[in-house]
Amino acid sequence: MIGEKFQVLESVFGYRTFREGQEEIVDALLSKKDVLAIMPTGAGKSLCYQIPALMLSGVTLVISPLISLMKDQVNALTAQGVKAAYLNRSLTDAQFDKALSNMAQGSYKIIYVAPERLNTGIFVRVARQLPISLIAVDEAHCVSQWGQDFRPSYLNITEFIEKLPTRPTIGAFTATATPEVKQDIKRILRLNSPAEVTTGFDRPNLFFSVIRPSSKPQELLRLVRERTGETGIIYCSTRKRVEEVCKSLCDKGFSATRYHAGLEDEERRKNQDDFVYDRKRIMVATNAFGMGIDKSDVRYVIHYNMPQDLESYYQEAGRAGRDGEDADCILMFGQQDIDTARWFIENTEPNPELTDEQNEAFRKKQEERLSVMISYCKTQGCLRAYMLRYFGDTAKDSCDKCSNCCTRYQMVDVTVEAQKILSCIIRTGQRFGAQAICDVLKGKVTSQVINFKLDRQSTYAIMEDVKPKKIKALIDNLEEQGYIEYVGVGRPILKVTDAGWLVLKGKAQVQARETLIVKTSMKKSTDTTLDSELFKALQVVRLMIAIKRGVPAFVIFSDSALHDMCRKLPVTDEEFLAVNGVGETKLRLYGEQFIAVIKEYRLKDH
Ligand code: ADP
Repeated sequence: MIGEKFQVLESVFGYRTFREGQEEIVDALLSKKDVLAIMPTGAGKSLCYQIPALMLSGVTLVISPLISLMKDQVNALTAQGVKAAYLNRSLTDAQFDKALSNMAQGSYKIIYVAPERLNTGIFVRVARQLPISLIAVDEAHCVSQWGQDFRPSYLNITEFIEKLPTRPTIGAFTATATPEVKQDIKRILRLNSPAEVTTGFDRPNLFFSVIRPSSKPQELLRLVRERTGETGIIYCSTRKRVEEVCKSLCDKGFSATRYHAGLEDEERRKNQDDFVYDRKRIMVATNAFGMGIDKSDVRYVIHYNMPQDLESYYQEAGRAGRDGEDADCILMFGQQDIDTARWFIENTEPNPELTDEQNEAFRKKQEERLSVMISYCKTQGCLRAYMLRYFGDTAKDSCDKCSNCCTRYQMVDVTVEAQKILSCIIRTGQRFGAQAICDVLKGKVTSQVINFKLDRQSTYAIMEDVKPKKIKALIDNLEEQGYIEYVGVGRPILKVTDAGWLVLKGKAQVQARETLIVKTSMKKSTDTTLDSELFKALQVVRLMIAIKRGVPAFVIFSDSALHDMCRKLPVTDEEFLAVNGVGETKLRLYGEQFIAVIKEYRLKDH
């Protein structure tokens, strides 16, 4: 039976090879062995349980907390000819009853169910009658109170399984790999000596950058303009910022929408659909957006603010490029972000299900995670290596696909400028932040300057002819190199460190990196098919089919499948089947329409 998996992979999903880890997981589940799979976002977890689900004799239940993911996956499976359904609170009572009665009659091979539903009497009764071969627990880290997304309803899973006449095989899937979470998953779900599969965390098609713009709004516009027509997500740390950024993009004519927990359910749903169905190109959102959004053609994820930890960053950024095509992950970093992140940690409500001590330990952990995040933003080494090593992978020192590896700098001596800045901080009494220091050096007249009589200082206006942007960059640089430091939360003030005093006394020199070219993206592929007339024509066919079937365009075919069509120019069924992402069902349903366009294109003597 195990040999048949390739046939299912190809005929149903249209792929010829398994990705790292997939085959091992499929094999284990097919031989009825429990699995704990840890794979990063976009690695292809779903296939690992969907293939066994189609091959095992009974039904597979997929437990997932994510309503939109269930809908997308069921849509995608149905488009591939698989009988699947979902049961969650988005269904009306009548729809729910219908799905349940179909389920009782054995109409589905795969059923997605929300954890809250598991222990309702009617669901248990129906489930007990069914031959359930496999239970796949998606986002399994939700069982753990140590994870970021603890969901008490996940604790129902074991109780539910115990009510079944025979225990199915259990596969637990997550992208979170910390040891506590792993232990919790195994213990709470009572996995039976599971096969543990952890795949590498690297996502080679993603370009990572950290930038420190002097004006975030301007830089954002520039980045988005460079990517006009592409699908992107912009994450902000607060609802207010989401509102501002979305408005400013819309005012400038960009096709943007927004998502945060302060919007009514209905608007959230509508905005999300607008984005998923390509009616809007840009989603501006808080971290409330994204869990379970399986939109594979996101070409960039920009973080307007630094997230609280690297785990969240990697997960959010990882929503780019799930189709395997090149995509950009850009983090905009500013001093203010550190304060906001600290504020969030300090104002997190204690979890009532934990003891005071546990809550305190959790808060400490969050602080540690934040300092890792800050170091990522400040590191001058390879960004990819930094992340991979943090997640326990090995990595080369340089990846040639991140802003630190690809940006060119030259070192310049800035000792004199540094002395001016340090001296200004000392003479104004080490009680001001970067903005005030910059104002004094620049010789500005602000209320603060007047109130504190800062214009009487000897350092007032001594950098009059230097652009504020440059002064700020120098201040950042001095901070990064440890000559000055920020003290206090809220409105942190600058103090000169011992190393800074040495510079002031003329005993040390300061070098700064002057950026020559900053890269935030791989130069777009030289593959000319990517922009071709044919690609656009195929996109149109895809959109028409998607509208007709009421599903998002990427459910019909991913961008990468369309690119492969442009490369292979298939005109027979056999050739069409050779396209990556085309299985028998998709050939049958859509082949003719795509082939017609390709034929027309070839006829035009291309
Ligand atoms: P995850 O749940 O791990 O975030 P998904 O299951 O959503 O990832 O898969 C991400 C994308 O990768 C999907 O578009 C999926 O179709 C594609 N994919 C999965 N497995 C393969 C494979 N073996 N070959 C090519 N593409 C694959």
